Amino acid sequence: MQTTERTEGDALLSLEAAAEFLCVSKSTLYRLLDQRKLAGMKAGKQWRFRKEDLLAYMRRGPAAQALARVPMPVLDAELDFLAAELEKAGSSTAESDDPTLDGEAGKITQLVRRMVSLLYALRASDLHLNPAWTPGGPTVQMVYRVDGALREVRQLPMALHEALMLEWKRLAEMALETTDRPQEGPVRLVYGNLRSAVRVAVLPTIYGEKLSVRTIPTKVPTMAALEITHTPLTEWARRQRGLILFVGPTGSGKSTTLSAFLLDIINTCACNVFSVLDPIEYEFPQGVNHVKVRGFGVAEGLRAVRYHDPDVIAVGEFAGDPEEAELEAWLAETGHLVLTTMHASDAISPLYAYLDAGVKRLLLGNNMIGVCLQMLAPKPCPACLAPAAVESELRARIAREAAGGGYTVPDDAIFRNPAGCDACGGQGYRGRTALHEFLTFTPTVRAAFLRSDTPEEFEAAVRRLGQPSFFAAQVKRAVEGSLALDTVLKYLPMAG
Ligand SMILES: [Zn+2]
Repeated sequence: MQTTERTEGDALLSLEAAAEFLCVSKSTLYRLLDQRKLAGMKAGKQWRFRKEDLLAYMRRGPAAQALARVPMPVLDAELDFLAAELEKAGSSTAESDDPTLDGEAGKITQLVRRMVSLLYALRASDLHLNPAWTPGGPTVQMVYRVDGALREVRQLPMALHEALMLEWKRLAEMALETTDRPQEGPVRLVYGNLRSAVRVAVLPTIYGEKLSVRTIPTKVPTMAALEITHTPLTEWARRQRGLILFVGPTGSGKSTTLSAFLLDIINTCACNVFSVLDPIEYEFPQGVNHVKVRGFGVAEGLRAVRYHDPDVIAVGEFAGDPEEAELEAWLAETGHLVLTTMHASDAISPLYAYLDAGVKRLLLGNNMIGVCLQMLAPKPCPACLAPAAVESELRARIAREAAGGGYTVPDDAIFRNPAGCDACGGQGYRGRTALHEFLTFTPTVRAAFLRSDTPEEFEAAVRRLGQPSFFAAQVKRAVEGSLALDTVLKYLPMAG
């Protein structure tokens, strides 16, 4: 390659000039030549470099290459759009942008930072980038989940998809070039005053990779902040040994409630607290020993914790593993307070899941403190909550089901629905509220559990003993005026 005479293009650069151009030392440049990562030419004994080869080297790597394919006007338009959305949400690019980033290479990073800032400005829980096929062609739907409802904020041009995915993968330390397998990882964020963390996951779909970003609150909320006060949990927290289950469907906030409950305990007792949770969702204050179970599993984590003198152990999430079930019950039996989350949509079946996993009924019954069932519902706007007309037949059904669940609806009870007003932006709802059923293992409930062979038999006994069902508890809240009729109807058991 002795082309010392080139007529077209730029003049050739010397080794010194090339090193300066790439911001590397001369020895690094020699190494790059050795490793054939950079193309150069020999003119006699001197190395010479074409600028286009140096530029090709600078644009190396999948992220740089993807970025090189993004039309800059497209990227600029989306940066402007997000800047406007941040303003609308009461924030600004001053809070999102990194002033040290400039040039084209920094723009995709800036775009992602604005997306994240909008997540917090909107008080959203999740952000999704969904590649989709619309009548206008392929696009990437940018969707935020605010107060539990999905809100599409923008259809981003498909031209940005690859570069966005690569930037998110870089942040989450994922394999950049893998596009056909799910991946996930946490990302810590420090943007100006914002100190937070998100969990990022990618999933291959037929239109390309989909991305989900879920916020991880770094600070555990208090029970008061969650508006969970004056409940049986206060009494459960005083117990020093036994098993408490926090159950609910996905996204019901049960882990958050467990964490807040644990925080209350930490603040009131000098005890040795362990959490065996995967993934770790919160940063607890001092005093909690987080066990990283990734790589060896919850059961092994629980076995190991026994040798570290625990008082309180938080476990998540129970999914039917026999060894884990046995260990939890055994730890409760031997003088520890054990808190677990579990996926369920009622308060009774989780107990039977433990029996199905092989735990002896007597062992479980003797050590249960209670089951807290939680769901999340939209919180009605108090400014426009107004009496709603209810057909007599529907009213009778609500009253019958509530009575069966242990709550008698007064004859003059008024149900309400929000009408929508300026205060709630016409939505009728603002934020979310946690709905509960508490099943407390009193001595009589315990005795009933030990006698009941089926969940149905046990539930009937629990209601006879006066503990309200989930539905009855929500009807009571609606009658008291803190829940909309429409929300209650979502939980009304099917007729017949
Ligand atoms: Zn309102």
